[in-house]
Amino acid sequence: MEKLKSGTLDGLHIRILICSLLYKDFLDYPKASIIIVFHNEAWSTLLRTLWSVINRSPKELIEEIILVDDASEREFLRKPLEEYLVKLPVKIKLIRSVSRIGLIKARLKGAEAASGEALTFLDAHCECTIGWLESLLAVIHKNKKTVACPVIDIIHDDTFAYIKSFELHWGAFNWNLQFRWYTLSTREMKRRKHDATQPFPSPAMAGGLFAIDRNYFFEIGSYDENMNVWGGENLEMSFRVWQCGGRIEIAPCSHVGHIFRKSSPYSFPGGITKTLFANLARVALVWLDEWSNFYFKYNEQARSMKEDQNVSSRMELKKRLKCRSFEWYLDNVWPQHFFPKDNRFFGRIKNIGEDRCLIKPERKGLTNQPMGVATLHRCVDEIIEEMFVMTSDGFIMTDDSVCLDAPEKPGIGPLRVRVIACSGFSRQKWEYDQNTQELKHTTNQKCLDIPLSKNISDGLIIADCDGKSSQKWDFQSVDWK
Ligand code: UDP
Ligand code: MN
Repeated sequence: MEKLKSGTLDGLHIRILICSLLYKDFLDYPKASIIIVFHNEAWSTLLRTLWSVINRSPKELIEEIILVDDASEREFLRKPLEEYLVKLPVKIKLIRSVSRIGLIKARLKGAEAASGEALTFLDAHCECTIGWLESLLAVIHKNKKTVACPVIDIIHDDTFAYIKSFELHWGAFNWNLQFRWYTLSTREMKRRKHDATQPFPSPAMAGGLFAIDRNYFFEIGSYDENMNVWGGENLEMSFRVWQCGGRIEIAPCSHVGHIFRKSSPYSFPGGITKTLFANLARVALVWLDEWSNFYFKYNEQARSMKEDQNVSSRMELKKRLKCRSFEWYLDNVWPQHFFPKDNRFFGRIKNIGEDRCLIKPERKGLTNQPMGVATLHRCVDEIIEEMFVMTSDGFIMTDDSVCLDAPEKPGIGPLRVRVIACSGFSRQKWEYDQNTQELKHTTNQKCLDIPLSKNISDGLIIADCDGKSSQKWDFQSVDWK
């Protein structure tokens, strides 16, 4: 961490100071077993994780550190690691799996061996910062049925520098059930202005880094033991916890750095379809209700794994815990969601004059959300990129939480329409008139139109309504159930 210039406080140190008030009673908190699973992890990153836990957690709050080795092949992770661990000033349990069991079963092994009142999971390439553990345990201390997640900062993949990431994001997922960070809801933003240290609810968790009460972890069904290697378990847990009476919260005072690797350093035994997509098929079958059909419709790999899944024991768990529906989850936990619903339009938006469909912009680089000018393309039959949702409030949105957006005030030149992150603001509100087939921007009552140049890369505009066919749009509903 960078050094302070005398007499000044940078953002990080101000945060540490303010946050320390929040968990000043930390000695009352449950003690944690820190569980770190690894497969062929590098020596330096594993030790960086361990030492940051040791140096930056109050020793009164650490019951033990549990390392679960998921059948690593690297020699230095055998005897040299054992010899190193005995010298550490903290109680350490090292569990070895003889065969590769994947991170889900490895975490379960760690949880079963834990004696702390709380479990805290970490990946093996993290750096914990001051206050990270107290802030997580504070959440559990307050409500045992809450899963507490840190803000995940970035450790650079090449330089290993610690880079602070956004605090104003929460976790959710897209139509492919890929976990994504999206901008917080406006209501939550307003609340945070008042006190930015307060934990806030999140529809989903990233998966690798979280704390949970040990008894609650098992009561709520730990993990689906039929999931393999990697992936999907974080969404499975997110749906299960929310739908079955718990909560997921992000504690903004808890910051943990994590190396986001460009590519996976290990193999997926059986291939990615048999592992990740089988896991996701299980998530959809158990937790998505009618929306599972929507997922399978557009996800061929998951669909191909669907028939092989026996989810009866998870369905029994769901029944036993009297869990709520996915619809309840969407309406209550994530009202800003962009999934189709009965009271929303779902389908293609086609320009009548040009016979072309609106298309979602491409995702550029590593950004979470795609964005760009709103453009049309030749309609293809039912590809996911040409599917849009229109809500009853007038927002036209698509996968990854992007919305059709236009300026509200006149400017120089044409008023360009873009597809950008949904904001909930009036500049993203539209009205569709079934009779005239015009799509009007609500604020200024201008019509969605194709510019005269017809140059596709110029994108769409809003202009005075004139009844021309370039301003006529066909909303073609597509069945999603
Ligand atoms: N891991 C494991 N067994 C596996 C795959 C992963 O024990 O078969 C460990 C891995 O070493 C890491 C954690 O599980 O500590 C999470 O995996 P990873 O970091 O690759 O996931 P990501 O952070 O990329 O989602
Ligand atoms: Mn990781």
